[in-house]
Amino acid sequence: MDTRFYHSVHLKKDLCNGCINCIKRCPTEAIRVRDGKAIIAGEFCIDCGECIRICSHHAKISRRDRPDILGRYKYTVALPAPSLYSQFNHLEDINIVLTALILLGFNDVYEVAAAAELVSEESRKYVADHPENWPFISTACPSVVRLIRVRFPNLIEHLLPINPPVEVAARLARREAVKKTGLPPDKIGVIFLSPCPSKVTYARSPLGNAHSDIDGVLAIQDIYPILLPLMKEAEKSPMDLARAGRIGVGWGGSGGEAAGMITSSYLAADGIENVIRVLEDLEDEKFSDLNFIELNACNGGCVGGVLTVENPYVAKAKLKQLNQYLPVSMTHKTPDIDNTDLYWTEPVEYLPVFRLGNSMMESLAMLNKVNRLCQKFPGLDCGSCGAPTCKALAEDIVRGNATQNDCIYVLKNHIHKLMDNANTLANNIFIGGDNAKEYIYILKQYITQLSSDISLLDASLNPSSGQEDGDGQEAD
Ligand code: SF4
Ligand code: SF4
Repeated sequence: MDTRFYHSVHLKKDLCNGCINCIKRCPTEAIRVRDGKAIIAGEFCIDCGECIRICSHHAKISRRDRPDILGRYKYTVALPAPSLYSQFNHLEDINIVLTALILLGFNDVYEVAAAAELVSEESRKYVADHPENWPFISTACPSVVRLIRVRFPNLIEHLLPINPPVEVAARLARREAVKKTGLPPDKIGVIFLSPCPSKVTYARSPLGNAHSDIDGVLAIQDIYPILLPLMKEAEKSPMDLARAGRIGVGWGGSGGEAAGMITSSYLAADGIENVIRVLEDLEDEKFSDLNFIELNACNGGCVGGVLTVENPYVAKAKLKQLNQYLPVSMTHKTPDIDNTDLYWTEPVEYLPVFRLGNSMMESLAMLNKVNRLCQKFPGLDCGSCGAPTCKALAEDIVRGNATQNDCIYVLKNHIHKLMDNANTLANNIFIGGDNAKEYIYILKQYITQLSSDISLLDASLNPSSGQEDGDGQEAD
């Protein structure tokens, strides 16, 4: 199976009412509304989760595992994301959360924050040793890497080729569990507790590696209500499980990773629109003197992931409060870790999904057609056609995926023209003459065309009318 376009984010077709709210929010223009239902073009989607955030009908959801995944393995290790700690009020001791995970049924825990400290240390060295590729762009947020892969080919060489902390944590956790239990690696389930769909996608379809060591992914929002009562129990006698300090836990909020780099020449941006602006400026070589750029697709960083429960800014404040109880760092490079755990083993390659044609000439010819079509459209970007902008509709037309009549303004003009012609004919029939029969025949054709155009117009203006509810099947 080609997992290059595996996506956690998908559509519950029966819940979608074609309201077009999501098409404008998607940063890669991956969504169209056709026949009253949203469709996601997998090759464009970067699993940022923005469409989940905006859809008030809950028609966009994130695939993930359910807690019963624990039953599939003889021994399970939880990998809590640093952002998990930011979901709880007045947390002073991470061990309470980690002990609650053991009470929930995990055999062990391995903090992603601990691996983040190792990644910070290695990244510092790598960046210092490779000034020729400055500024390096962090690769911890899979949506950012996916965005660069499809939209910013010139920036691929700036990607930091180091595994995200969750991958490093998964490898170390499995190795430690094998040593502790003597079980074969496949009997051990390494389960990540994720703040976002992007990392669910990463576990199935990683970038920079052929396979991920993560066996399953639970959403923080699913695990949160189960953990809360268990934390009350854990509070009575927390186990000594924590192995990360401020540097690792800080990765949960934007700027945390960059702070771990211990450099002043960095930039940190969060929120997908800001990320795109930074990448565009970087492409235009607007930044000099930077050696590191941290980018997070979600507002506030991972704490703003769509699978969390807390407001991202409150969560960030909670992380700061928690920091005062933590040492600076607890993890140092161990003999158990080597470069294959830390570094990408596969390059990330450009996927030219936005290109219009198969060759430069073809693309140019298609671009000319797009420009000509755009002149026919009103430029309102109203979304009634089901595409986010008039330009996106023009591109859909030249790719053969839409027609000009999908634009309600073009359609309206067409109807007016037909009506004018029909009027002229009707007058001629009234005057009479030898051609009356022929005029009546043409007039009938106009009426048929008019009725078909008016149905199209109705469908555009009221996408849900006449639609049957879906069958409840999940559809991509
Ligand atoms: S209901 Fe459908 S069209 Fe409207 S925001 Fe949700 S997924 Fe998008
Ligand atoms: S997850 Fe992001 S990129 Fe994918 S369809 Fe939704 S908004 Fe667009």
